[in-house]
Amino acid sequence: MSALSPSAKAFLRSIFTVLFIAGICSFGVGLIARNLMIGFGVGIILILVQLVFGYYFSLYIENQQQIAANMLIDSVIDDAIEMKAPTSLSCAYCNEINIVPLSLLEENSFDCPQCQQANKVYMQFTTVRITQPLAKKTTVKEVDMDEPTQRQTALGDKVEVN
Ligand SMILES: [Zn+2]
Repeated sequence: MSALSPSAKAFLRSIFTVLFIAGICSFGVGLIARNLMIGFGVGIILILVQLVFGYYFSLYIENQQQIAANMLIDSVIDDAIEMKAPTSLSCAYCNEINIVPLSLLEENSFDCPQCQQANKVYMQFTTVRITQPLAKKTTVKEVDMDEPTQRQTALGDKVEVN
């Protein structure tokens, strides 16, 4: 049993529960009616009733879980709309600097307290390169202009051509 997944265990448990209830009831009815076939028929009917009831009950549970999930998503979106970053913006009319709380999910506008004009915020995003530092520093050699262009180099010295 330990090798079974939790959902397989739950499935087996519900099957055993359905059969157990149907078995007990059909045994009882069979005893009272003193007829094995009546008890057997009651057992079959009980199994079917439990399966139909279980099916609709699981649909109901699934629906409730979906409603709860949707409520969670809605509250997360509401919180994100509430989250506003204070940004300093100059008024489009009088250039007065205003601290405006901006939302990324809604259109933003504000009334300038100085000139009472309504400003609409236009947001634009751009990308920039992140410069990579060179792995190896290049050495810059100073050139002595007095030195003759024809030079003797020791054996093994690298001759750099610029
Ligand atoms: Zn203004």
